[in-house]
Amino acid sequence: MLWRAVRRRCVVCGAPGIFEGWFTLRPRCPRCRFSFEREEGYWVGALIANIAAAEGLFALVFVGGIVATQPDVPWTALSIAGFVLMLTVPVVFYPLSKTLWLWADLAFLHPLDADDLAANDPAR
Ligand SMILES: [Zn+2]
Repeated sequence: MLWRAVRRRCVVCGAPGIFEGWFTLRPRCPRCRFSFEREEGYWVGALIANIAAAEGLFALVFVGGIVATQPDVPWTALSIAGFVLMLTVPVVFYPLSKTLWLWADLAFLHPLDADDLAANDPAR
């Protein structure tokens, strides 16, 4: 399931095309009909993961830059790099944060059960 999430595919069946655009996840998987919106406020976890990824990468670059260039730290270059990272990483990582959140939820928090599978049945 993790490999499916990393490739921005349905974590349940591996189908591609679960996004309508870069930012819009379809309500259901086009193949297995799995509902991606599992409950109200479901995507808060993905939002937190996205912010954590952006801030983690920023800290890694900023602190790594300081440590690597001591004693002549290029503060302006580090500030510009940090600014660019904080603008681009949340946008680039956005779809991945959603599929990774789906994976983490299904793998650790709320595994698929019989009710989920019945609700995904296209015959219903
Ligand atoms: Zn699917």
